[in-house]
Amino acid sequence: MSNNHTCTVCQKSFDSEKALHIHESKKHPSKQAQDLQNLLQKFDEEASKVEDLQDRKEQLEDELEKQRSRTEELASTVEELREQKKGLEDSLSEKEDRIGELEDDLEKEQDAERELEKELSDKKSTINRLKDERDSLESSLADTENLINKFETQIDDMDDKL
Ligand SMILES: [Zn+2]
Repeated sequence: MSNNHTCTVCQKSFDSEKALHIHESKKHPSKQAQDLQNLLQKFDEEASKVEDLQDRKEQLEDELEKQRSRTEELASTVEELREQKKGLEDSLSEKEDRIGELEDDLEKEQDAERELEKELSDKKSTINRLKDERDSLESSLADTENLINKFETQIDDMDDKL
């Protein structure tokens, strides 16, 4: 016979766990009630820990959800900024094209202006040359008139003598 199961209240030994439990329920009912009470309290504590864990899990899920929503907002903002950047790039490209066109126009106008200046200069030279030729002709004409006058005077003299 082995006496492995000892009552913790009265130290009496039993050869089976079942026998000890029967002894406890008969001789020490309050001890069993206390054990049950302790067990229930332990359950309550465990349940409370589970509830805490549940709350913490919900908090973490909320935070995760907020983080996701913030990430979506950021992605949307980035998308808007990309579109704005595209618009600015298009606008810049148009402006550069327009500047290129105007620079070409300006170049052509400057060429035309240089052409006109050259024509003007050529015409001035021609006018000066023609004026010189006219002056020379006027001088010759004056000489010729003097000569005619001189001859006419001589002719008149000869007529008077004749
Ligand atoms: Zn006992």
